[in-house]
Formats: sequence, structure tokens, C-alpha cells
Amino acid sequence: MSAKNMLDNAIENFNNAAAMLEKEYDKELLDILRHPGERAEIQLSPLLSDGKIHIIKAFVVKHCDAVGPCKGGIRMASNVTLDDVSALAMEMTWKCALIGVPFGGGKSGVVCDPLPLSKLDKQMVVRSFARNAHNHIHPLIYVPAPDMGTNEADMGYIKDAISHAMGNATTQGCYVTGKPVILGGIPGRREATGRGVMLTVIEALTVMGKNPKEVKVAVQGFGNVGSVAAMELFRMGCKVVGISDINGGICNSDGLDVVALQKYYLEHGKLQGFPGSKPISGEDLLEIECDVLVPAASGNQITADNADKIKAKIIAEGANGPTSNEADRILEEKGVFIIPDILCNARGVFVSYLEYTQETQQEQMTVEEVNERLSKRMRTKFRQVYDFAKERDVNMRQAAMLLAVKTVCDAKVARGYLP
Ligand code: NAD
Repeated sequence: MSAKNMLDNAIENFNNAAAMLEKEYDKELLDILRHPGERAEIQLSPLLSDGKIHIIKAFVVKHCDAVGPCKGGIRMASNVTLDDVSALAMEMTWKCALIGVPFGGGKSGVVCDPLPLSKLDKQMVVRSFARNAHNHIHPLIYVPAPDMGTNEADMGYIKDAISHAMGNATTQGCYVTGKPVILGGIPGRREATGRGVMLTVIEALTVMGKNPKEVKVAVQGFGNVGSVAAMELFRMGCKVVGISDINGGICNSDGLDVVALQKYYLEHGKLQGFPGSKPISGEDLLEIECDVLVPAASGNQITADNADKIKAKIIAEGANGPTSNEADRILEEKGVFIIPDILCNARGVFVSYLEYTQETQQEQMTVEEVNERLSKRMRTKFRQVYDFAKERDVNMRQAAMLLAVKTVCDAKVARGYLP
């Protein structure tokens, strides 16, 4: 999706919810939430191993902090734009409100392709971001986390850069989540989002009276979210018939052995050539014969161009904003059940909340405690959205948006109006 479209999509989703809430809240209050509260453009200039200074643009967007400090990951990609980051920050506001954590919505972007960078050069870019965006990052203002193109190690460098800048060995309170466990991170963080995707799929299959063992799944994206979602669904007995990444996909209508595929991927760095699989293009993967499609790559993958050709009955939005509004309408007409991103991939931000409270209280949770709390919350929230959708006779996305926007409006009203 072009940057403009991604933001347009986010605003249209909000407008749809706002139109249904006009009788309950002031128009001006809803108008405030239509756009981000703050959009910062920052220049990074790291000296990289080629001996040159590189000028790299970065963005920090804080959409709304009515419920609490802004929360949202750092996306590092050559094509990320300020509008993309604004759309993603807005989505974080709704996601945090829906899942019930005391955070608002924020997001960062670094306009840089991480793939060709050496480990050390990537660390330099991340440290440069931490140094230059330092004024925006604080446990009570904005707390970043990993997103596409950034990972756990990068969050460790950010914590280190900030604590050094303060002249301390560590930070007081949580400045960044998704860190290595040794630096105050939480066990199970890496798997959290993908596991949450699986849980919402299982809930959806349950309400439809379907047995996971009789279900075929296709997953787009084999990174943090996609690889874990594929593995977890495979473990639940689903047949994973297709998987893709940026270089294309592989398929097998009898099901791929995802455990063996993980090993193969680690060894070869690609999906292609996995024994017993056939190659398939990234586009065809989305249209493959399956019951559940998990888009877990980037935004705007399901559009008016391909929505009609999608065979899946359930779409579980592991990625943020994978479905355009036009596609949404086509899929609704076809009766496809969509588990919207702000519900489907919200487990990541819930685990971030546990990391935040753990660090504030200087405790260490076990992976069992984390998993138990996460699973309970995801199931409860799925049911809440599902029941609300039935009660209001709206689809799952509309129900999730209505619940989220109402929560944020209530927080704004409770705070009273600022000058
Ligand atoms: P990642 O960088 O770990 O992985 C992205 C994967 O998508 C890679 O396998 C990449 O090759 C693949 N990909 C990219 N473009 C593709 C395309 N056009 N077709 C097929 N595959 C493609 O990123 P991630 O952390 O897994 O995030 C994926 C999505 O999930 C993003 O939209 C992100 O915002 C969202 N998300 C992530 C988290 C999290 O905890 N990581 C939480 C919530 C939402």
C-alpha cells in the first residue's frame, strides 16, 4: 500500500467507528482522534564501516496518550514513510485500548534497509536513532519495541544507549520493551505475537464449530510473527499448506512439516528448495486453496485486485493493516470472517505491558506466568469482540474499533479538556 493509502485506510476505519459514536461523544472529541498528536521527523547521521557518514531519516509519531504513555515498535525499512508511521501509531492507540493495557499509541520509523547492513552497522544506525530520538523516549512518554526490521538485540542497544547518555548503568523504569531477558526483557516475548495469532484462530474455529485438525492454513511472511504463527498452528494440528516470504513461497496441499522447515530455513536462509514442497509465487500464496489465511508480512497485501480470488474463509491479520478497505468490503460480501489486526496481533503489546510492569517493579516473571496471563487475555478479548459484533450486528473489525475508540474517548472525557 502506498503510504497515503495506509493512513487513509486507518482514518477511514476510524471514521466508520466515529460515525457510530456521534451520539455518545462530542464531535470535536472525535475530531482530535482523527490525526496524530505529534509527528517528529529526525535526522540520523551515523558513521558506518565504509568510513562514510550516512544521512538517514527517522520518524517518531505519538497518536494519543489519553490512556497512558505511547507504545509502538520501530519499523526499519527503506520505504517507510511518515504517513505509514502515523497510520501504525493510530492503530496502536486502538490496539492498546482494545486489549486493555494502560498505553496510548505511538510508532517509529527508520528509513533504511537493514538487510544489507553488517551487524555492527545496524547497531550503529539503531544507536544513532536512540541518541537522536532520546527526547521522545521515556517510560511516561513513548516506549518503543521491535517491529519489522528491528529485533530484540536492537532493543538492548537502545536501553544501553539511553542509560549511557544518563551516565547510569541502567535505566530507571522501562524505556523500551522487547529487550533481551538479561536486560529486563520478558521470556516468551519473541513468540508472543505469533502465539496470539494462533489463539485467535483457534477461538474463531471454535465459534464456527471447526476442528483445527481438519483445517488448511496459508501464512504470508516467515519472520517473527509468521514463522511462530505457522509453527503454533502446525502444533495445533492444522495443515500448513503454504508459506511465503519476500522472495516467494512454497506449498504442499498435504501440509508442510513446519518444524523441519524452521530448521531448513535456519540452515539455508530461504524457503525455496524445502524437500517435498513446490514453489509458488507470493501473489498465488494469498489465493491458495485453504481455510485460514494469515497475512503476517506488511501492509496492504489484500486489496481490491486480489480480494475476490481469496479462497480462505478466515483471515487472521498477523500483520498490521494487511487488508485495504475496498478488499474488506469485497471479503465481507463473500462472508469471510476477518480477525482484525488490533485483536489478532495484540498479544505482542500485552506482553510488552508485562515487561513494562516487571521492570517498574524490578521483578522477573517466568515464561509460564507470562503465557497463562497472555492466553487468558487473548481468549477473553476475542469473545468480547465476537459477542459485541453479534450484539451490534457489525463485523469483527467494526466491533473491535468501536470498543477501542469508546475506551479512548472515555479516557479523554475522564481527563477533561486541556487548554
Ligand atoms: P519481520 O521483519 O520479522 O518479518 C517479516 C516477514 O515478512 C519476513 O519473512 C519477510 O521476508 C516477509 N515479507 C515482507 N514482505 C513480503 C511480501 N510482500 N510477501 C511475502 N512476505 C513478505 O516482521 P514481523 O515482526 O514478523 O512483523 C510482521 C508484521 O506483523 C508487520 O506488519 C508488523 O507490524 C506486525 N506486527 C509485529 C509484531 C511483533 O511483535 N513483531 C506485533 C504486532 C504486529
